[in-house]
Amino acid sequence: MLEEAKAGFRKAYGYEPTGVWSAPGRANLIGEHTDYNNGFVFPFGIDRRTYVAIAIRQDKVARVASTISEEVFQWEISDAKPTALDWALYPLGVAWAMREAATTGFDAFFVSDVPVGAGLSSSAAIECSVGFALNELWSAGLSRQQIALLGQKAENEVVGAPTGIMDQTASMLAEADAAVLIDCKTLETELVPLGLSNKGLVVAVMDTRVSHRHSDGGYRSRREACEKGASVMNVSSLRELSESDLVAAEKLLNDVTFRRCRHVITENTRVLAAVEALKSGNMERLGELLLASHASMRDDFEISIPELDTAVEVAMSVGAIGSRMTGGGFGGAAIAIIEQSKLEALATACKKEFAAKGYTEPNIFAVKPSQGARKDS
Ligand code: ADP
Ligand code: MG
Repeated sequence: MLEEAKAGFRKAYGYEPTGVWSAPGRANLIGEHTDYNNGFVFPFGIDRRTYVAIAIRQDKVARVASTISEEVFQWEISDAKPTALDWALYPLGVAWAMREAATTGFDAFFVSDVPVGAGLSSSAAIECSVGFALNELWSAGLSRQQIALLGQKAENEVVGAPTGIMDQTASMLAEADAAVLIDCKTLETELVPLGLSNKGLVVAVMDTRVSHRHSDGGYRSRREACEKGASVMNVSSLRELSESDLVAAEKLLNDVTFRRCRHVITENTRVLAAVEALKSGNMERLGELLLASHASMRDDFEISIPELDTAVEVAMSVGAIGSRMTGGGFGGAAIAIIEQSKLEALATACKKEFAAKGYTEPNIFAVKPSQGARKDS
């Protein structure tokens, strides 16, 4: 892919790139819709990455191209945000967010094997690849955490997606064989070794190939319900509440708002319990927590879809340790922790069940917890 990125660059711009950088997509082990509620998340970087071949220019023009489309998009770096430039808003939004450090323009070409819209955050992968590259090319001196925040700023303010800080933090801070516990209130992070391969386990992704592209409304309304719940409960965010507050919350909130808040509050507890389970090597407990998380998203937060529920049921039926939908919901993928030797049985059973129900054929593959943003060449 590294060579593919260089070749794509040469073809688009007719000269050699300065270097190639990359950043991974991520899978969230547990902790869904908790990030924008100042809570806990526990994602890991996956072995599917977005590569960017890039060179600086003498002017302030930024050009971006990708294997995703033929068109080269162009914008001049300035205080005025780039607008109406399709997918190019992701990388150009990052350049806009970093504009104070921008000493030059640049040409960039992207190649990726992170599936788009599958809940594995191809958006953070593209943002972090270019953010990490520009930080070096411009000698901006930003920390990985700061680059993550600027990636989020781009996605919020330029793309217009009201997402939290999880995806970019995972893509920037991930390490091989580990997951990153992120406290989204303090932005403190802790790398927790997963040790899956020692136990003969893998994380299987079951991509339903139902795109969450049209989920903006659903995401927004969940965010609003959480904000409303916090405001009625008179706290700055749901992070400030614990399970002991649920009795009071049930009296004060309407049924839907209560269930949305219950998901977030119980999910925070589950994330910390999952970290403990891993540290003590209790995989059975980890599995229970993943399943409880899925049930909470399905029943209380109502962001699952029948395809995701089916994927989780099939995974458990072939002997997975635990399984849950991952990512924002309304489509995308589920994950399962499963013995390597059962992966093929899972793929076969999942495809069979999806076919029987008339769903689109799912894409099933294992992901390996991998390193965050890096320079490749
Ligand atoms: P997810 O992050 O779950 O994959 P998003 O909707 O957040 O889904 O982001 C997907 C969007 O990010 C794509 O529709 C596209 O605009 C942009 N994108 C991601 N990867 C690339 C890429 N390699 N080249 C061009 N655009 C990309
Ligand atoms: Mg995304």
